[in-house]
Amino acid sequence: MAKYIFVTGGVTSSLGKGIIAASLAKLLQARGLRVTIQKFDPYINVDPGTLNPYEHGECFVTEDGAETDLDLGHYERFLNIFTSQANNVTTGRIYQTVINKEREGAYLGKTVQVVPHITDEIKRRMQLLGQTGEYDIVITEIGGTVGDIESLPFVEAVRQLQWELPEEDSVVVHLTLIPYLKAAKELKTKPTQHSVRMLSQEGVHPDIIVCRTEKTLSPELRRKIALFCNVKQEAVIEAADAPTIYEVPVLMMREGLDKIVLKKMNITGYKEPELSKWKEFLDKLKYPKGKVAIGLIGKYIELQDAYKSILESFIHAGAINECQVQIVNVHSEFITDDNVSEKLAGLDGLLVAPGFGHRGVEGKIVAVKFARENGLPFFGICLGMQMAAIEFARNVLGLKDAHSTEMNPETKEPVIDLMEEQKKVTAKGGTMRLGSYPCEIKAGSLAERIYGTTTISERHRHRWEFNNKYLEQFENAGMIASGKNPGTGLVEIIELSRHPFFIGVQYHPELKSTVENPQPIFVHFVKAAKAYAEKKIEVKNPLLQSEMI
Ligand code: GLN
Repeated sequence: MAKYIFVTGGVTSSLGKGIIAASLAKLLQARGLRVTIQKFDPYINVDPGTLNPYEHGECFVTEDGAETDLDLGHYERFLNIFTSQANNVTTGRIYQTVINKEREGAYLGKTVQVVPHITDEIKRRMQLLGQTGEYDIVITEIGGTVGDIESLPFVEAVRQLQWELPEEDSVVVHLTLIPYLKAAKELKTKPTQHSVRMLSQEGVHPDIIVCRTEKTLSPELRRKIALFCNVKQEAVIEAADAPTIYEVPVLMMREGLDKIVLKKMNITGYKEPELSKWKEFLDKLKYPKGKVAIGLIGKYIELQDAYKSILESFIHAGAINECQVQIVNVHSEFITDDNVSEKLAGLDGLLVAPGFGHRGVEGKIVAVKFARENGLPFFGICLGMQMAAIEFARNVLGLKDAHSTEMNPETKEPVIDLMEEQKKVTAKGGTMRLGSYPCEIKAGSLAERIYGTTTISERHRHRWEFNNKYLEQFENAGMIASGKNPGTGLVEIIELSRHPFFIGVQYHPELKSTVENPQPIFVHFVKAAKAYAEKKIEVKNPLLQSEMI
């Protein structure tokens, strides 16, 4: 049977519960324990798939096609494991299950209530992964902040589970903020005391308090927190601001977070965490030898979380290339033929981002054209790939009206079109082409050089596809389909033969990049950007040029 760690948050949101949970999981995994993490979100959407990226950041898609919270991305990137639908549960999904059961008559005429019916369903789902026998430890992150009305049933479920489980089989870690008041030149513990008291009033007493802070906690302060929050002093953990999230496991190890968890759970006989590979990655990340500038062309650029997995993939790919990847955000809505060279000046590579709807697409097409014509390394993801196809159709094949039927349903040249099975779909939630699909790669292509194999599998989240009616025309003009779905023939990868690096993928490679396994397209794209940057320096430096002559 698995043991359970619950991670709650107090004082304010955005304290990084997901990173703390993932870091603790990493340390336990690095000791040899089998660990997974799940996130319980108190909002009423059935899943985050229908949430606006501006509001909630990116939607992370798992192998089995679940549209989930972006914290699952952190779990996968830290632990190098796959998560699934079972790892992300929302209030909406809980209610949906309970209401469906009620409609089936499963409650035999009972009044259906938050306690016990909703809390029972939360408890059942909290234990699902633990009961598979695959894990020693299941970490459950409770979304939201303690004291929110909507998180009450989750806290109540934790209370009941703690009561039901043997004492050493569950631990509660509470993450809070210790603010620094400049005027008083002091760190303040009162908000933490209040949030622990609130949690206690709801019946759950934290075993460990992790304190987010900008300044070091003195021993006296730790003692004060311990005394007033009724935990041992060793259970007060400092989580100082870190230059990168990947540093947090190392900081947590120094603070002994994993040790105290193991002690509370009475788990013995596990070695010290083996983090040599992780530290090697961190070293490369912290001390890069070079730098490249990559333009991220998108329409959600004001909110960094909207492209979370892409940004993290660049961190992994940069580290392995021993170079810092500077992301330059370029808003696609404001790129025009007249300003494109100015907007993209100084870049060593261009990534055109995924997206939905017509806003900003013309700017993306202009950016692709610039990259294609100037030999600038190009990488298009999902909508980015579709825009590359449209640009090629319009400007190389001369199909001036070329478009996607998503943006122009009346286009005479639908080079990007809706799949047959998608035409019948009306509901928005969970109905796209989602999750992992196989892809066969053409031998001798750039894609094969990148992946080093001809069969891969990557995750999807889209409705529209490359229209195969145009494929011959594209290939004759130099843009080939170097990856296809073996069963359906749907185009998964396009690339330009006569270009240093130009690739577009219909899937989302960023969803599978981890610290231990950086995603190959990102790795090779950064490498291509490095080569481009070096050449640029050569051309710009007349001395170097004449030496070369
Ligand atoms: N809107 C496009 C589609 O649905 C692309 C989606 C995406 O970029 N994820 O096909």
